[in-house]
Amino acid sequence: MNMNFLELIKNGSQLLKAKKIESHVLDSELIASFVFNRSRENILINSKEMVQSNEISFFNKLIERRKRYEPIAYIFNSKEFWSRDFKIDSRALIPRPETEMMVEAVSKILKNRKFSFLDVGVGSGCITASILFENLHSFGVGLDTSSSAIKVAKKNILRFKLQNRCKLLNRSYEKFYGYKFDLVVSNPPYIRSSDIKKLPMDIRKYEPRLALDGGKDGLDVIKKVIYKSRSTLKKNGLLAIEIGNGQFIKVSRLLKLLDYKIKLTIEDYQKNVRCIISLLK
Ligand code: GLN
Repeated sequence: MNMNFLELIKNGSQLLKAKKIESHVLDSELIASFVFNRSRENILINSKEMVQSNEISFFNKLIERRKRYEPIAYIFNSKEFWSRDFKIDSRALIPRPETEMMVEAVSKILKNRKFSFLDVGVGSGCITASILFENLHSFGVGLDTSSSAIKVAKKNILRFKLQNRCKLLNRSYEKFYGYKFDLVVSNPPYIRSSDIKKLPMDIRKYEPRLALDGGKDGLDVIKKVIYKSRSTLKKNGLLAIEIGNGQFIKVSRLLKLLDYKIKLTIEDYQKNVRCIISLLK
């Protein structure tokens, strides 16, 4: 079939729209940009240019995957985080922009210092790699209970040549002893088990449940991280933790109870407290 870019993108977007995918136009443009290896702008400027049939069939294949609600990041095996391209797949959570705010805040606080950190639930490695990039004198350990997530993190750490400043371990935080850190960071699973079914299809169907489900009140892992960090943090060490909507009051109460002093809270674009940075007294 003969077709130009405009028609191709329109077809794709209509197929996605039929599946109630809100970002149908953008997604269709992104898929075209990926398939033709050209920027979206370039394609839109040359929208009357005719396209080849083998590329049309590759485009259609990717549209089919998106129609089944597979996230764009998994279709492209890539997601930008902290201005770098992370290789990802469904073995690890897709890095989120909110998490960049946590990286930014801890990097600012620890600027120019030599420090060690532990990333609990390293996932794709996005937090660990970004802290290492930003802080040239830092050293990090990444833990994950999922052996498949560790493989994704490993791939990224090697790609970015950060292996000399980082160690990855397939282990639970409970079974981790013997070291003390200046900083513990974590973006733990914090969705209530009963809310998982309310998540958008993209997330619910494709992202690892282990990376999302925080138990009955969503606080299971957050609590563990707060308790356990009392023995893995040095005195005056920092704990940076990402939390879910409506969890701030409970989490801040627990932190105070356990001798942490809240230093900074960060709100996301919707004004929910998304990250708490506290100091262990
Ligand atoms: N640390 C990873 C991230 O922030 C994974 C987090 C998780 O799996 N809950 O994306």
